[in-house]
Amino acid sequence: MSFRDRAAAAIADPGLHEALHRATDRFVEIRKGGDDLANLEGLKAAARWVRHRTLERLPEILARFADEVEAAGGVVHWAADAEEANRIVRDLAVDRGVRSVVKTKSMLTEELGLNDALEAAGLDVVETDLGEWILQLAGDRPSHILGPAIHFTKERIAEVFSRVAGRAVPPDPATLCSIAREELRARFLAADLGISGCNFAVAETGTVVLVTNEGNGRMVTSVPPIHVVVMGMERIVETWEELDLVMTLLPRSATGQRLSVYTTQITGPRRPGEVDGPDELHVVVVDNGRSAILGTPSHEMLHCIRCSACLNVCPVYRQVGGHAYGSVYSGPMGAVLTPLLRPDDPEARELAYASSLCSACHEVCPVGIPLQDLLLEQRRRNRRGRRDLGFRAWAATWSRPATYRASIAAIRTGAGRLPDALVPTSWKDGRRIPRPRGRFDLRRRLERGEI
Ligand code: SF4
Repeated sequence: MSFRDRAAAAIADPGLHEALHRATDRFVEIRKGGDDLANLEGLKAAARWVRHRTLERLPEILARFADEVEAAGGVVHWAADAEEANRIVRDLAVDRGVRSVVKTKSMLTEELGLNDALEAAGLDVVETDLGEWILQLAGDRPSHILGPAIHFTKERIAEVFSRVAGRAVPPDPATLCSIAREELRARFLAADLGISGCNFAVAETGTVVLVTNEGNGRMVTSVPPIHVVVMGMERIVETWEELDLVMTLLPRSATGQRLSVYTTQITGPRRPGEVDGPDELHVVVVDNGRSAILGTPSHEMLHCIRCSACLNVCPVYRQVGGHAYGSVYSGPMGAVLTPLLRPDDPEARELAYASSLCSACHEVCPVGIPLQDLLLEQRRRNRRGRRDLGFRAWAATWSRPATYRASIAAIRTGAGRLPDALVPTSWKDGRRIPRPRGRFDLRRRLERGEI
């Protein structure tokens, strides 16, 4: 299905509309609580500069991060693509006899298809973010990078939980949360391996920073004996001062909080004498198309800190929801990022048109990404692609005598018979359709005195 088909199906679903509007309105409303900074525009400009400077020196900063992780007792793995990342995590688990895995919410692992890879190896994988768990039980996919199950009503969640509990569960949020807490606590305690994403990594100390509101991140990263962090290569800052800056903006832009409920900082595995923490810490740094974006006109998309503010204000996202984008990443950031990560996928490229170009996304972006300009840049690339295809076909046809002659013969025959209806009216005004002449015979024309 194309974006247009998926969007049409979403628009025709009144239940989805209601859930989307309620959730995005609420996100926009609570975000107003984050407008408490005196010099917000100055901070946004500083954050943009920090992200820019970090990406300019990315190899050097990543190398420093890797050295510090290893100095703290962790292990760093480098994955060029999804297949390699999934293989690294799967092999780590299988080699250590892992059977049960718990996970925090991580859009990168969704991008990689990590759950499928682990389940194919016989592992039991449980999502522990409430929204992600609901989707896992329902066999559904995330539709928002921050609230993955925002397309679910509480009645629908109650139906899903009734199956888990084996009894009719009322659509009451407190009851639903207590069921999740009870079920997931047992999973945390039994897990052999915890997998988390990474909101930011701090190069100068080799620290991984996680931001959550449910506390599941702390359980996943401290209870199982092995912790694997799956981290996009761009999710890094060099110093704690820079982290301070981006962390001032991230929760405010996401949920209007000055600070998320849990900000977890992990440097190395558990040390002697410490009570909590894993015996082993592994960090898998994933490229999967990111390095190809560096240095291109669209490199600013790598500045994204995944706050989701642009989704909530986007008039297209608010009508069609996340599934219409056919990607883990939706809304304006998804419309830009998806074709950059999947440049050969025509379905991804058409997302450049999933925008009214109103620039509401740019206004709310805490790191000032000019999303509407990047969408226009993608549209230009799409047009270039089509032109290139035409020129390649023309060159291939006219560079061989046989196909050149055949094409000329076809033009002679076809143009003479071109029905008037096929020629655009605007072109025909004041013109005659030229009829092709026969073969150009110089000698005959000279003899006839035509030349
Ligand atoms: S593009 Fe900007 S507003 Fe959108 S998720 Fe990324 S940082 Fe947030």
